[in-house]
Amino acid sequence: NLSGDAYRRQHEITVTGAEVPPPFTSFESTGFPPEILREVQNAGFSAPTPIQAQSWPIALQSRDIVAIAKTGSGKTLGYLMPGFVHLKRTRNDPQMGPTVLVLSPTRELATQIQDEANKFGKSSRISCTCLYGGAPKGPQLREIERGVDIVVATPGRLNDILEMRKISLQQVSYLVLDEADRMLDMGFEPQIRKIVKEVPTRRQTLMYTATWPREVRKIAADLLVNPVQVNIGNCD
Ligand code: ADP
Ligand code: MG
Repeated sequence: NLSGDAYRRQHEITVTGAEVPPPFTSFESTGFPPEILREVQNAGFSAPTPIQAQSWPIALQSRDIVAIAKTGSGKTLGYLMPGFVHLKRTRNDPQMGPTVLVLSPTRELATQIQDEANKFGKSSRISCTCLYGGAPKGPQLREIERGVDIVVATPGRLNDILEMRKISLQQVSYLVLDEADRMLDMGFEPQIRKIVKEVPTRRQTLMYTATWPREVRKIAADLLVNPVQVNIGNCD
């Protein structure tokens, strides 16, 4: 696909993997449901960012992804939009546990992701909650009990709640490790591995990271299956 190649060159996108689909260079070409596209219009966005343009078509094929791109490149919607489509396809009962799980290093980032999920998932009636430390567990547990489609969690708090057996991850089929490099820097690797053991292996896994050091490669090799790698700019 010539125009796809031209777009990749122009935006310094490098892809590694078999038969990687061409990027979606416009919102219209994504085929996202109209209620989702409406939210994008409301936000005043004119076009997908390069990481979105390239990761959306891959994620929509239900393939695993490692995306390496710097901060501020629009990674959140890069995984949330296909996550919304995944939710529409699976139609699980949220009372049985979340279908989409996003792991994030900090409370602040987790809250930002939840805000983005609520904003862009609102008209699709997608529900999302946040689990993080430094706050009482009670209200977080009640949210889970009420039933949510998406859980955004820091590894420490989610692991605590798992040990209390207050959440089931048996329904999770779309797992995102956001800011994977930062989570490893913060020492969350043991918690991440424990959490992932509770998630069925039949799942789609997406990893987003700003850097690509040996520790991140190792956990990617352990948790992802035949991922397509997407690099933006000279990030590696
Ligand atoms: P990252 O996770 O890569 O650091 P974010 O997902 O937090 O980046 O996005 C950074 C900002 O860009 C957010 O305010 C987000 O709403 C905005 N944004 C996301 N996608 C687009 C887009 N296609 N066009 C314009 N702004 C966007
Ligand atoms: Mg981010």
